[in-house]
Amino acid sequence: MTTFYCPECNARVQLVIEKTYSFGGNESTPECAQARFGHCALCQQPALLRFIETGVDANGFPTAEFDIQLFPAALARINAALPERVEESYIEAMKCAGAQAWLAAAVMVRRTLEAIGQEFDPKARRLFDGLAKMKEQGVISEELWRWGEALRFLGNTGAHPSGDKIQDADAKDAVEFLNAIIQNIYVLRPKFQAMQARRPLSPRTPEKPPADADH
Ligand SMILES: [Zn+2]
Repeated sequence: MTTFYCPECNARVQLVIEKTYSFGGNESTPECAQARFGHCALCQQPALLRFIETGVDANGFPTAEFDIQLFPAALARINAALPERVEESYIEAMKCAGAQAWLAAAVMVRRTLEAIGQEFDPKARRLFDGLAKMKEQGVISEELWRWGEALRFLGNTGAHPSGDKIQDADAKDAVEFLNAIIQNIYVLRPKFQAMQARRPLSPRTPEKPPADADH
């Protein structure tokens, strides 16, 4: 069964294959490849996957190895109401990731972080200041701040054609860390605040110890 990641269903689902097309195997593209076009078994959204043909099975049918999800973008996108400028860069980052354009993805991850930082400190000229302000205001934890710093460096490396290279795996991780940061700031935080407003789980100020606590 062929499966793919369906962003509409936010799950790995079966691809109902409409058409399989083999190509390559000639001088210019010696590798035999296969494109499979179809739709999500659950929501009918279209999808296009690329496979590398690895040989033939006992029945003579070509066996294939999943290579790349060409459409739709393969990584799960956080479904949240984002500020316009954040969303603009975030969508671009996910598009780059979906196309496995990792260098561009790393740069867009940095741009998204910069937009988030400016939401919290409109005067922040540098991403470093934006992240520092977010940590100071308690919007992000010490750990998320460190993730942000790592993504900032990676994005800087990606933006300039220097000798330093970005590994695909690093850029891929950067997208996942960005997702975690966005999830924290724009999904979990508002959710927790709403829950606390409904029913405070812990007292806002610590209760005074009983008068005889020291005895
Ligand atoms: Zn679907």
